[in-house]
Amino acid sequence: MTAAAADRPSLREMAESVASGAVEPSTFVAESLEAIRQDRSRIPPIHPFLWVDEKAAARAGERAAANRLSGPLAGVPVAIKDNMATLELPTTCGSRILDGYCSPFEATTVQRLKDAGAVVVGKTNLDEFAMGSSTENSAIAPTRNPRDPTRVPGGSSGGSAAAVAAGMVPGALGSDTGGSVRQPASFCGVVGIKPTYGRVSRYGLVAFASSLDQIGTFGRSVRDAALLLQVIAGPDPRDSTCARSDVPDLLKASSGSAEGMVVGVPDEYFPDSLDAGVRALCDEALARMQEAGAEVRRVSLPHTEYAVPTYYIIATAEASSNLARYDGVRYGPRPAEARSTGEFYEMVRSRGFGSEVKRRIMLGTYVLSAGYYEAFYGRAQKVRALIAQDFARVFDAGVHVVFTPTSPTVAFRIGEKIDDPLQMYLSDIFTVTANLAGLPAISLPIGSIGGLPVGGQILARRWDEATMVRAATVLEGALRTRG
Ligand code: GLN
Repeated sequence: MTAAAADRPSLREMAESVASGAVEPSTFVAESLEAIRQDRSRIPPIHPFLWVDEKAAARAGERAAANRLSGPLAGVPVAIKDNMATLELPTTCGSRILDGYCSPFEATTVQRLKDAGAVVVGKTNLDEFAMGSSTENSAIAPTRNPRDPTRVPGGSSGGSAAAVAAGMVPGALGSDTGGSVRQPASFCGVVGIKPTYGRVSRYGLVAFASSLDQIGTFGRSVRDAALLLQVIAGPDPRDSTCARSDVPDLLKASSGSAEGMVVGVPDEYFPDSLDAGVRALCDEALARMQEAGAEVRRVSLPHTEYAVPTYYIIATAEASSNLARYDGVRYGPRPAEARSTGEFYEMVRSRGFGSEVKRRIMLGTYVLSAGYYEAFYGRAQKVRALIAQDFARVFDAGVHVVFTPTSPTVAFRIGEKIDDPLQMYLSDIFTVTANLAGLPAISLPIGSIGGLPVGGQILARRWDEATMVRAATVLEGALRTRG
């Protein structure tokens, strides 16, 4: 986060000061809108937001006056990635094909935040349809990293991460299909959680790769990100993949200790080629965990090297099928000059999608096509199972959490990888496994290199967000006392 953000009250402090009556219910919302406005006059702007609800503060005031603004997050401003459906603001996924689309319904996560009293101030920028690792694939404009505006904020939830890192909002929602919450959190120096697949309802989340997509949270501390997760998680009859099981008390988890905790460190995530600075910060984080009472144990996840190709086969296959629905008939720009239905679709889709989305649709269509299906898609499903088994074996051997770097590097420069999709894909190496195996994972800041933040990742067993949050809180505390 930036120095300006560090001076802002935390999400929990905001909630507490509104609840106690010390601060008016619309004050933090108004401050948030002002910070967003100020960014527009900065050269260049960070530009985390695509859509801003300028009336959010007035609305919050009215709701409070009518006694309709209550709950654990009353008066807390939050931001939502623009691939989740909202009633008051457009939902465009950073794509031209959804230009002007306003959803007639609301995502469960958004509804739960509002029910808890939170106020949505705006929708944040993303790589088109959440496909990317830098937010440069947004059809509208890129977002910059608040710590260094010449660099990317990461992606695809770069807008949400940047908004939190710049102190514009204390918390935000993102989506994570292969790292899109954790990697931008790492690049911007904030905390990002990807929950267990099925922990949070996907109702109202625009689908990218349905078997991997999961909504996650951003905060400036583990506690704030966990608090948001607590509010949005839990059963939802509108999403059949959302588990019916109860959500653990994550706030209680955030006050535990690391005594007796076994932290697994997989060799495959620390290759010889790993950036020396990233490695040193990881070693230091592990030393702190040890001092705090944890046992650090070397482990092996042997199928890690196949994770990126497996992910890019499954994710593109599912994307090609999910994105078939964008035909331009009900919304989006309509080409008046089309002479046939076929020509209409062709014009809509070739003009409406950006080049990365087209690349994914083509890759996905290819791996699903007759003759190649078994060789690519079928095989990828098998390798996905092996990757999940690797983790299961490690956890069954008594390891409670696994620690890795979140990303092999710090934030790269804007433009550095945009013309080299393979390099961009390879930067997802440490994050895609959690999605393939359905595990919960968190990224938290563990230091910086030349002023640029580095994130450490902690993964846990499916449904064990409590242990993950406990480990992350211990590490965060231990690093803070280091100064
Ligand atoms: N960077 C990965 C991709 O481009 C992950 C994206 C995501 O998690 N939405 O697919």
